[in-house]
Amino acid sequence: MANFWHSSTDVIIIGSGAAGLSAAIEARQAGASAMVFEKMKITGGNTRISDGGLSAPGNFMQKRRGITDSPQMFYDDIMQAGLKLNQPELVKLFAQNAAGAIDWIRQLGVQFQDRLDKFGGHSTARCVTIAHNAGRDITKAQIRQLEQLQVPILTRHAMAGLITDSSGTVTGVRIRSDVQEPPGTAKPDNASAKTKNILARRAVVLATGGFGSDVAFRSCHNPRLDETIQTTNHKGATAEGLIAALKIHAMPLHLSWIQLGPWGCAMEKGYGKGCRFASYSIFPAGILVNPDTGNRIVNEWADRRIRSDAILASGRICAGIVDAEGAQKDPDSLSHCLKTQKIEKFDTLTQLAGAWKMPPDALENTVADYNQLVRTGKKDRYGKLPDKNTCLIESPPFYAMALWPKVHYSPGGLRINADARVMDLNHRPIPHLFAAGEVTGGIHGAGRLGGCALTECIVFGRIAGRQAAMTPGL
Ligand SMILES: Cc1cc2nc3c(=O)[nH]c(=O)nc-3n(C[C@H](O)[C@H](O)[C@H](O)COP(=O)(O)OP(=O)(O)OC[C@H]3O[C@@H](n4cnc5c(N)ncnc54)[C@H](O)[C@@H]3O)c2cc1C
Repeated sequence: MANFWHSSTDVIIIGSGAAGLSAAIEARQAGASAMVFEKMKITGGNTRISDGGLSAPGNFMQKRRGITDSPQMFYDDIMQAGLKLNQPELVKLFAQNAAGAIDWIRQLGVQFQDRLDKFGGHSTARCVTIAHNAGRDITKAQIRQLEQLQVPILTRHAMAGLITDSSGTVTGVRIRSDVQEPPGTAKPDNASAKTKNILARRAVVLATGGFGSDVAFRSCHNPRLDETIQTTNHKGATAEGLIAALKIHAMPLHLSWIQLGPWGCAMEKGYGKGCRFASYSIFPAGILVNPDTGNRIVNEWADRRIRSDAILASGRICAGIVDAEGAQKDPDSLSHCLKTQKIEKFDTLTQLAGAWKMPPDALENTVADYNQLVRTGKKDRYGKLPDKNTCLIESPPFYAMALWPKVHYSPGGLRINADARVMDLNHRPIPHLFAAGEVTGGIHGAGRLGGCALTECIVFGRIAGRQAAMTPGL
């Protein structure tokens, strides 16, 4: 039996995004030894390519600007976007610990911009953004910390399965080393890899992220999301970590509620400056118009699910329109998008309508009605209630971007409890198995609000790491 294990550590963490690295730091700081396994050749997963927006009530930037917010307001917003499919105790825990999670990464050296954004579905401005809009700053700071703590991170090492004993306790993992990444898939390549069994004396933490790039898995749960719909995710965002837990009877939640980003720029692959400009500038400051009618189709501040569904229901690539002033919310992305022709610039709305083959009078009327709404502060028929963040669309030039949703996030995943323990089909914790981040489900219910994933990964990653370290050894 001794030869069965190739090596051992107290806590094994699978995945090197924000959730996994947060867990590794906490586990080590709680006195456990730890190892992180990452299947890709580079660390960071979706965290690395993210915009680095983190939402939290009572965060340092809100305090600096005197903005009132509360965990209860945050909770209410998350529950509404999630259609109340969310697990209430997890949302409460998240809301109470979100601002602390941002302070924690600031202490690790992560720098933030002097800006605060209000994204669709949030009742107030509460999203802070990392310097250079780069989620990779989180993983870089965490990796620096893990180097000091002497926690190894092994890339090109893929978990191929969880190992349990006869009582169902998770005792370790099967790891394939020297994993190749065949074109088009980052799933472990069996033929070229070696398998080793690694003993986890205390626990395994699954932090393998979402499954946005796993077309077979996602389209099984939502056939609408086949290969014709692009994704913003890194290519390693596949479901095998989640499946490994399902094989040992973990409880899945909400797998078919896969989130689309309504700000998907039709002129670029994946997630680039176009998506970012739409997210940070067009939706907060502009309008979304169906080119067939020249009319708005939705509350541009609604949550992502509502906005994406509205575009899909229109059956047409829609036009996101913003004026010169609104475009200044993200000037860097604007200049990049102009250079790369992801966005078009027009001196007048009539020219814009002509280029998009829209009925010009209809577009003029749409904009005039919208500006009237902003001036009067009345709620419109889509439920948009203008406030001080709403912008008039009146200063030329006007900008238009082609928008079509992209698969962005997996709100569904493994059911965990408040200690980040993975629950089984009988509602009992699976001994010695924890999970955090996008591989889990239930916190966001039917849909996630902007900036809530990274914060949640840190909150629950930290809990998972601490709890894993405190688990009595085998
Ligand atoms: C383009 C983009 C922009 C985003 N912007 C924001 C934002 O601004 N704010 C926000 O809150 N959220 C944002 N999100 C969502 C957010 O980035 C993710 O939900 C979050 O980073 C997930 O973190 P994670 O640690 O759970 O997973 P990840 O960061 O994806 O890390 C999981 C890691 O596990 C590895 N892995 C998977 N399977 C295995 C296996 N079998 N063996 C070993 N390793 C494995 C993966 O390769 C990956 O590196 C964005 C997402 C994208 C795609």
